[in-house]
Amino acid sequence: MAHERIPLRLVPEPGPDEPVRRDVGVLGAVEVLPGAVRAALLTRTGVVRERAQAAFDASSADPAVVDAALRAASQVFAGQVPAGVGVAAAGVVDPAAGRVIEVNDAPALRGYPVADRLTELTGAPVRVEHRARVQVLGDRWFGAGRGRRSFASVATGEVLGVGILYDGQVLAPAGGRSGAHMTVTASGELCTCGRRGCWKTVATTRWLRGRAVELGLESGALGDLVTSDEAAALGLVEEYAQNLVLGLATVQQLFACGLFVLHGEALDGGEPFRALVESRLREDALGGGEAPTVVLGEPSDTGALLGAAGLVLSGP
Ligand SMILES: [Zn+2]
Repeated sequence: MAHERIPLRLVPEPGPDEPVRRDVGVLGAVEVLPGAVRAALLTRTGVVRERAQAAFDASSADPAVVDAALRAASQVFAGQVPAGVGVAAAGVVDPAAGRVIEVNDAPALRGYPVADRLTELTGAPVRVEHRARVQVLGDRWFGAGRGRRSFASVATGEVLGVGILYDGQVLAPAGGRSGAHMTVTASGELCTCGRRGCWKTVATTRWLRGRAVELGLESGALGDLVTSDEAAALGLVEEYAQNLVLGLATVQQLFACGLFVLHGEALDGGEPFRALVESRLREDALGGGEAPTVVLGEPSDTGALLGAAGLVLSGP
């Protein structure tokens, strides 16, 4: 399929007496995923005013497919220039250069200059961060981490990862990752990264479903398991909580986050699962500092977009 290069400018050139005004009351947020771009216009308190989504062919290596999707999703910014646009991008990103370095499942995103493209489209300053790491900024500005200078946000489910706010700053060293490949067991299962015993081999949906099948359970969904009256199901919930804590306890020991906000699948486990994770974490965390607290994040399908918007508020 052929792709025409589409001119990217969306915001009309201002006439001589008509400067495009930046509306500092609104924030822009964009999420870049393999095969999809989502965009939202939000208030400074995190209320989504408008959203749009555009798909692109993830198997294509042509950056023009991403240009087109970005342009389509950016329609939410038509007519006003937000205070800034934050981008939550999947894969490996270079925040300083504002580009995606690589996304495994989407060759067109390799080296993609998303900040430059979005500045052309919106006229606003753009900041880019890794998707797993911006979640913590959503919580920091609009969620359970409001007012805190240090805490962790934890993505659970299909994707596992920890974003850390430390003394007001997102810990995002170049080349740093989100923890899914921390080794938690010396002779564990083979991981997608080729090594053994990574945290994600024992603390994701995939592990939970597989273990439920091994145990002959009807369902491996966390929401079903926590409400089951079968001892094996409840035992599996405990095992899953313990496996999550394998990674969280390490993070607590290193960064003394104090607060862990759970997102994703953990929300299906509700209060029983939260309490289990918290009690296990308190047992595993060594003394000293604030006893760790675990809370459930807001149920939302806009987590990464809120995080991206938080990136604007956290800007220099
Ligand atoms: Zn791994």
